[in-house]
Amino acid sequence: MAVAEPALADMGQAAAGDLQVWGDACERQPAVLRQFDGWGNRVDEVVYPDAWRRLAAVAARSGLVGLAYETDTAGRTRDDARLVQAALCYLFAPSTATYLCPVAMTDGAARLLSDAGGVGQAREVLEHLISRNPGEAWTSGQWMTERQGGSDVGQNAVVAKRDGDRWRLFGQKFFCSNIGCEVALALARPEGAAPGTRGLALFLVRHDGPDGSRNRYRIDRLKDKLGTRAMATGEVTLEGAHAELVGAAERGFAQMTAMLNITRLHNAITAAGIMRRAVMLASAYAGQREAFGRKLEAHPLHREVLAQMAAEADGALYLTMRMAQLLGRIEASSADATELALFRVGIALAKLYTAKQAVAVASEAIECFGGQGYMEDTGLPRLLRDAQVLPIWEGTTNVLALDVLRVLGKGDALDALGAELERLQAPERDEAIDLARKARLERGDTGESMARRLAFSLARSWMGGLLGAAGAEVRPRDIGLPLR
Ligand SMILES: Cc1cc2nc3c(=O)[nH]c(=O)nc-3n(C[C@H](O)[C@H](O)[C@H](O)COP(=O)(O)OP(=O)(O)OC[C@H]3O[C@@H](n4cnc5c(N)ncnc54)[C@H](O)[C@@H]3O)c2cc1C
Repeated sequence: MAVAEPALADMGQAAAGDLQVWGDACERQPAVLRQFDGWGNRVDEVVYPDAWRRLAAVAARSGLVGLAYETDTAGRTRDDARLVQAALCYLFAPSTATYLCPVAMTDGAARLLSDAGGVGQAREVLEHLISRNPGEAWTSGQWMTERQGGSDVGQNAVVAKRDGDRWRLFGQKFFCSNIGCEVALALARPEGAAPGTRGLALFLVRHDGPDGSRNRYRIDRLKDKLGTRAMATGEVTLEGAHAELVGAAERGFAQMTAMLNITRLHNAITAAGIMRRAVMLASAYAGQREAFGRKLEAHPLHREVLAQMAAEADGALYLTMRMAQLLGRIEASSADATELALFRVGIALAKLYTAKQAVAVASEAIECFGGQGYMEDTGLPRLLRDAQVLPIWEGTTNVLALDVLRVLGKGDALDALGAELERLQAPERDEAIDLARKARLERGDTGESMARRLAFSLARSWMGGLLGAAGAEVRPRDIGLPLR
């Protein structure tokens, strides 16, 4: 990690300077959709402010995606690459108007194309996705959700039809973030394939078709969103868009899951970053603002609130970095079976817990500023708006809690987690593991209805253990919002 220190120091400095200025500029001037050119031709071009391109250049140059795919002279990936990447992204995220969303999806796409062996167009696309040269770097979208189902993608209706040795996609995608992307990975059902998730295949859709002209998809409109306003999300109609199959047709859903592991990690990084920003602002304000004759920080009750917020922020950071460490070891092939099992359950826990808590901490930070916290020009409302999407996309809290239940129900994930909590001497570990055993024994509705409580108690215990083992200053017992 010492080798990464200069890059981290640079990113930290940029986060308080240029990145913040550009992020604010993007928020003031969100992207717009230009549907027609001056001659009435349909162009569906997303027009971004210059500041957005500057953020993109920093992301590429800093290797926010590329770093995880770089190898040494022997062709090996460093097993701490994900940790360094996560630390850089953590510093980058809070200032940059949700630019980490394109980074996350690009990283997910790169992982997938890299795992699929990168043949044909896919190889060329991968090089662009991981490039550190801003002039060559591309970003990716991920087009899964349709009107009838986001969590329930098995209902997907977009169809893939063969066209010689190529494919064409027909239908509608309802949520396409980073819609100005050069490529997207889209789930579609090849004609005649099975219903449900089994019949879904994954396709690479380029912005431009094989002859260089605009590929055949329409951007119907940009969504009018509560937050993440600078990061354009579109609704898309595929009108025979040229597409390339990625991996085996029957592995579409499994590949999507691998991609989600990456985007869920970025989600947790963003959540932890938002919490850190919220705590820093609230703590700084408490050192300046006076009420009832003393600084806010001198009031025991206000100090208590700040301590609880700090515990959430630190806990989120430690759990997220533990996931980055595990992912790095898995990708470098140095992880053992226990670490694999731990990551499988941990990534769902980290995403669901940190996302939910980011909303609570951002909300509390607004209250810490009193009436001014509610004012747009403080930048605080934006933190809350941007946090609110984190529990929704990349798997809602319920969907992930059910995933945790499923993972614990088979294989050795529960043993792996039990051993991790024991090693860390995590608080309330026996209660959390007992609850997991109970939920595992229950079938059907009763088990499902316990899933969220179970996930939260496991995550809390794990974070408390990580904080305790690291000798962190915050009190592990403070973890567990809502703040009381
Ligand atoms: C700003 C934004 C950007 C997005 N960008 C993208 C994108 O780029 N690409 C993309 O593919 N998608 C994107 N999405 C879509 C997002 O992933 C979905 O909205 C999300 O997966 C939830 O799906 P849904 O909207 O269909 O809600 P539903 O699945 O209908 O969920 C509604 C509620 O039901 C609950 N629920 C669902 N199933 C169960 C169950 N089995 N048990 C218990 N509770 C359940 C959920 O937790 C939720 O509370 C984006 C969403 C937003 C808000």
